Amino acid sequence: PQKQLIVVTPTYNRALQAFYLNRLAHTLSLVPPPLLWIVVEMNSASTETAEILRKSSVMYRHLVCTKNLTNIKDRGVHQRNTALEHIEHHRLDGIVYFADDDNIYSLQLFESIREIRRFGTWPVSMLTQSKNKAILEGPVCNGSQVIGWHTNEKSKKLRRFHVDMSGFAFNSTILWNPKIWHRPVLDPIRQLDTVKEGFQETTFIEQVVEDESQMEGIPHGCGRVLNWHLHLEAHGLVHPRGWRLQKNLDVI
Ligand code: UDP
Repeated sequence: PQKQLIVVTPTYNRALQAFYLNRLAHTLSLVPPPLLWIVVEMNSASTETAEILRKSSVMYRHLVCTKNLTNIKDRGVHQRNTALEHIEHHRLDGIVYFADDDNIYSLQLFESIREIRRFGTWPVSMLTQSKNKAILEGPVCNGSQVIGWHTNEKSKKLRRFHVDMSGFAFNSTILWNPKIWHRPVLDPIRQLDTVKEGFQETTFIEQVVEDESQMEGIPHGCGRVLNWHLHLEAHGLVHPRGWRLQKNLDVI
């Protein structure tokens, strides 16, 4: 049988939310099952999101994170933790992937991460509006062996692993059955919010693997970009005077 994919998506209300969620739903509906889409919102489950999920042909769970946001920079972080707790609590078996709602994903990505045994990583192309250029972040590979990292200028040398949030996936049993991976049981994986911004990915990964030898580079040779991380938000959009976008626009 095919390995289950567990795709975790934090989402929140803004102008393009319905567009993003529908686009991701369309992509995920083209991925062969079994796939479980865990969508997490803050405070309450919105009817708009619920409707998009209901209309999609994807198997999903719609979760709510009730933790207080202490730091405005922790965007999406507590929601991902809510999903991790859910996976751990219900012992969901599969490959966990954090897929933000606004990024672009190829179908080959989902095909590739299904093959992961313990932990897989791949290069992600980040497109930033302000810098007007693409930045590559992720592994340099020899076959499937990770031998180095592409990194962007602001984080040079500080982080142990240069991986984007959307550039890795791992076996969920690491969360609830660490023994089989020879991880100490008494040392539960710390959640994503224990560290400062920019270090969440590496701190999390450092608990899942000891070093590059336990990683699987994807796809073979890591010579292809399988997903794009976009920083093209609509926050700065100037609306005509007297007209405000109160909630997301429905795109159907
Ligand atoms: N997100 C969220 N609440 C927020 C901000 C972001 O749920 O207040 C979600 C967002 O929908 C996306 C993910 O977290 O799925 C990453 O958000 P964003 O793209 O803004 O982060 P960046 O790409 O800048 O790291």
